[in-house]
Amino acid sequence: MVYKCDDCHYATDIFLSLQTHRWTHVKKRPYRCRLCNYGSKTLQNLKIHFRRVHTKERPFVCPHFPCKFAGAYSQDLKSHIRNRHSKNDKTVSLDHLNNNRSRSHTHLKEIPRVLI
Ligand SMILES: [Zn+2]
Ligand SMILES: [Zn+2]
Ligand SMILES: [Zn+2]
Repeated sequence: MVYKCDDCHYATDIFLSLQTHRWTHVKKRPYRCRLCNYGSKTLQNLKIHFRRVHTKERPFVCPHFPCKFAGAYSQDLKSHIRNRHSKNDKTVSLDHLNNNRSRSHTHLKEIPRVLI
């Protein structure tokens, strides 16, 4: 009987040797996924892996209506917005400026009326 390591090419016919060998991986990546062989150095990475691979959860939803994009990583959403909405963002900020300007215009008109 040959015991093989799941994470590398190590193989041995002594089960205890495999167990000892496995510790070298566990020490490096102590956070192990319970559904696959994935191991991570940090709990955060394991959580991200779990979300992306096993639950398909995508919590980072695009704020631009009616876009339905959702990403597993905040980085995904950032690059999506940069690629798809960078033009829209400019229009939005221009509209915002125009609104402010027209608002200040009405404000200016109101002042003389009060004076009269
Ligand atoms: Zn190994
Ligand atoms: Zn996994
Ligand atoms: Zn979008």
